[in-house]
Amino acid sequence: MSGMDGSGVPETAGVEAASSSDARGDNRHMPSEDCVAGINSALQRMSVSKFPYLRCEPDPTVRFLREQMEKAGCPVLPRMIRAMNCMSTNHNGSYGSGLGITVCCDHMRSQDEINQLLIHELIHAYDDCVVKNMDWKNCAHHACSEIRANHLSGDCHYKRELLRGFMKIRGHEQECVKRRALMSVKNNPYCSGTAAKDAVESVWDICYNDTRPFDRVP
Ligand SMILES: [Zn+2]
Repeated sequence: MSGMDGSGVPETAGVEAASSSDARGDNRHMPSEDCVAGINSALQRMSVSKFPYLRCEPDPTVRFLREQMEKAGCPVLPRMIRAMNCMSTNHNGSYGSGLGITVCCDHMRSQDEINQLLIHELIHAYDDCVVKNMDWKNCAHHACSEIRANHLSGDCHYKRELLRGFMKIRGHEQECVKRRALMSVKNNPYCSGTAAKDAVESVWDICYNDTRPFDRVP
């Protein structure tokens, strides 16, 4: 939801797809200045050689998604991405229709995490652009986008799961995608009770296998 991040943005654009935060590691985050530079780096806006947390190469997946957004008629403009301290324990960032992408800098610890969050939120932005009549208040629509975003962003790569303390390897990826998608949909005020779980289950097969705009899972 708007306002969930403390931004005070008027709730005109509907529901935000918040990116779940279930990291169990330490809570040290990078300085805001580095976080902003990291976002700019991922978007190829500046050189970041003076920032020790950051890599200098732009992320190829972020670049690919931005190209696909542009092709689909929804170019990603700088003002659509904001860096802020969200003071939240349950999300790292969010995408809202008409609001754009929020990166919670108080949760970011590395360039990798920034890139990954941007990829996750850009998939929501892509869905918002290309899915006809995308309705974030519709639990199935939201669930589908969360399944895709968690699957395609590498949020559930086994190395990240190990860092979170989830050690089971077999079948971990799908379980992780489902768990994280469910957490995000549950935060949608239109999907309380069993609605979130029902929505995730009902669209699972179609949406887990829908890798657009990628040919296969990157
Ligand atoms: Zn999400």
